[in-house]
Amino acid sequence: MVSQIHTNILSHDVAVFVEREDDPVELGVQLLARLEHAELPLPEVIDRIETITAHPETTRAILEEAELRGHIDRDGDTVRPVGGRFLSFESEVVSRDGEFECRRCGASISTGYFMKLEAGEHGPFGSSCIRKVTGRE
Ligand SMILES: [Zn+2]
Repeated sequence: MVSQIHTNILSHDVAVFVEREDDPVELGVQLLARLEHAELPLPEVIDRIETITAHPETTRAILEEAELRGHIDRDGDTVRPVGGRFLSFESEVVSRDGEFECRRCGASISTGYFMKLEAGEHGPFGSSCIRKVTGRE
């Protein structure tokens, strides 16, 4: 079911509703589509992707798919986000109070920040890590 949805996205390049846990590639591509940097070294991009997946093959698939869709340009070890569909911090990051573990650094946090992407929410992150992941640092 999920692969059919994914195929639909690939062929039409239209974002439809996708369950986030089922499709880390879609989530990763959307994350890369919204990086707020002029350019980033590849290891820093991978650092962000690792908040979604720890699998090298999935990481590679995310990078390839993001490049294929024109969200990023790769030049050796430098990645340049293209297009500028930048995340608006106010409208597309939500916070919730509770007991969370930061998805990036593992710290215990009482306020979790989540990126709202078309593929679903990505988080929770602490206040400094959400800035790192969205590229606002
Ligand atoms: Zn953190």
